[in-house]
Amino acid sequence: TDPALIRNFCIIAHIDHGKSTLADRMLQLTGVVEQRQMRAQYLDRMDIERERGITIKSQAVRLPWAPTKDEGGESATHILNMIDTPGHVDFTYEVSRSLAACEGCILLVDAAQGIEAQTLANLYLAMEHDLTIIPVLNKIDLPAAQPEKYAAELAHLIGCDPSDVLKVSAKTGEGVAELLNRVVELVPAPVGVHDAPARAMIFDSVYDAYRGVVTYVKVVDGTLGRRERIKMMSTGAAHELLEIGTNSPEMTPADGLSVGEVGYLITGVKDVRQSKVGDTITQVSGGAQEPLGGYKDPKPMVFSGLYPLDGSDYPELREALDKLQLNDAALVYEPETSAALGFGFRVGFLGLLHLEVIRERLEREFNLDLIATAPNVVYRVEMEDGTEHTVTNPSEFPVGKIDTVHEPVVRGTILAPSEFIGAIMELCQNRRGVLLGMDYLSEDRVEIRYTLPLAEVVFDFFDQLKSKTRGYASLDYEPTGEQTSELVKVDILLHGDKVDAFSAITHKDKAYAYGVRLVAKLRELIPRQNFEVPIQAAIGSRVIARETVRAIRKDVLAKCYGGDISRKRKLLEKQKEGKKRMKMVGSVEVPQEAFIAVLSSD
Ligand code: GDP
Ligand code: MG
Repeated sequence: TDPALIRNFCIIAHIDHGKSTLADRMLQLTGVVEQRQMRAQYLDRMDIERERGITIKSQAVRLPWAPTKDEGGESATHILNMIDTPGHVDFTYEVSRSLAACEGCILLVDAAQGIEAQTLANLYLAMEHDLTIIPVLNKIDLPAAQPEKYAAELAHLIGCDPSDVLKVSAKTGEGVAELLNRVVELVPAPVGVHDAPARAMIFDSVYDAYRGVVTYVKVVDGTLGRRERIKMMSTGAAHELLEIGTNSPEMTPADGLSVGEVGYLITGVKDVRQSKVGDTITQVSGGAQEPLGGYKDPKPMVFSGLYPLDGSDYPELREALDKLQLNDAALVYEPETSAALGFGFRVGFLGLLHLEVIRERLEREFNLDLIATAPNVVYRVEMEDGTEHTVTNPSEFPVGKIDTVHEPVVRGTILAPSEFIGAIMELCQNRRGVLLGMDYLSEDRVEIRYTLPLAEVVFDFFDQLKSKTRGYASLDYEPTGEQTSELVKVDILLHGDKVDAFSAITHKDKAYAYGVRLVAKLRELIPRQNFEVPIQAAIGSRVIARETVRAIRKDVLAKCYGGDISRKRKLLEKQKEGKKRMKMVGSVEVPQEAFIAVLSSD
């Protein structure tokens, strides 16, 4: 294709503002998906994506479009490559790679909601990549829509005229054809060097059980052809190109891809880590010397221990993680043993949503019952003797003479109606936040910026923020380095034994309150056993809180006064049901809820 006829663009938006629905309308309008095959959120292929209504992996699709001219008639058919991006904070790196494959973007804002935190985060990313930005208000069919108000807000934000903001309904299709015309008109055609060694950027890489890894690329310079030998520039690994083509929206093989084109390629590799997002592909012979910029390894920010409820499921858990890793270069894990929970894995995630998605897939797709320990961040501990430890599991926090502890921090951006400023500041202050600044987006909406320890954000911050603002606040955060803090490890002892899975690292000023709260909660959750169970919280050898679960022999059948056999059976079954999610920790039976209880602050 002549690059002058290509337009590469993506849609960026806060979650739920309608990206996937708009993508659906574009598929229909350009005729690549027939009416009767259409189903909602066509491009969200993973089950969890469809159920939760979120987009996790980006997808690219090629749309032919002949824009209508003002004076009537059609102009030449253009190729629009649309890239649907994930909208959640955990996947910012993927969004950023998708943006790097585009020359323009549609900034989509819900006309009943206005600008939200991820609208801003994505907009800033788009500006960093010098993309042409097309501001669009969606959902104008909603009775609650306030298109004029939010067009002004959006125009003010990006510095354009309110009349430049397009208004569409992804649901009814109103305004979508005009939007495609505007993409052709405003988004620059890709530029690259035709007669140069090939350089293609990988912006996505997915594992397919039948085809192996399918890699999505944008060709920046030169041409990649079928059967050519290619190499991944970050590792030097060479592969044969078994197939190359475009998605419209199903895979359609082609002879090759050249300057500005977006498509997929298949080399037969079986693991996405061999085909990394952000890497540059070139030919083996006469290939490029300099990779395209921007590659970075995904870095896990949050760790959690995953243990099978039934210890004999350990091999299945390993197999399941191996399988998921084929499709998720950001997922890392290593075996770990816990005195309390037995054999499991310490698993690293990009963030909390990533953690939840993985856990849910393990339980659902692989039928595993799991216990997940409280998520924690990575600490760097310098000892007085000059040695240094990287701590990904609180129970491994070193004892002895600690010099300094470093913890990761993030820059958090919160958008909310201004009536909640007080509540938000109080929450952030409680979470050891440092105010960076505050701006009014309009009369009644503010943007508040804080530096916060990641550990405090990971620990039910978002839920608290939502409940303190009646759901109106939105949050985005990005890692900005680390800070030194006075942190201590709080251990929990059950019946005198330290339970490693309950150990947590907290700020020293919060340790006491944390210990008191947790032992109280555990006392409620741990059922009475036939002996007395003391529950203690301790820092080193110093006990800071204590509760006791009194002994009782609870015979549920005694309540049945003989007779009713079916009632008796029901009770027994109910008791068995309750037992299923119990874990023996030393001599004490602990329900699964207890491990989850550590996760919330109320
Ligand atoms: P995404 O998270 O940005 O991909 O958003 P979705 O496309 O999944 O849409 C979120 C919700 O908004 C879904 O329930 C859609 O049906 C709904 N929605 C999207 N566009 C429109 C629209 O133009 N009008 C109305 N009324 N609802 C819409
Ligand atoms: Mg979506």
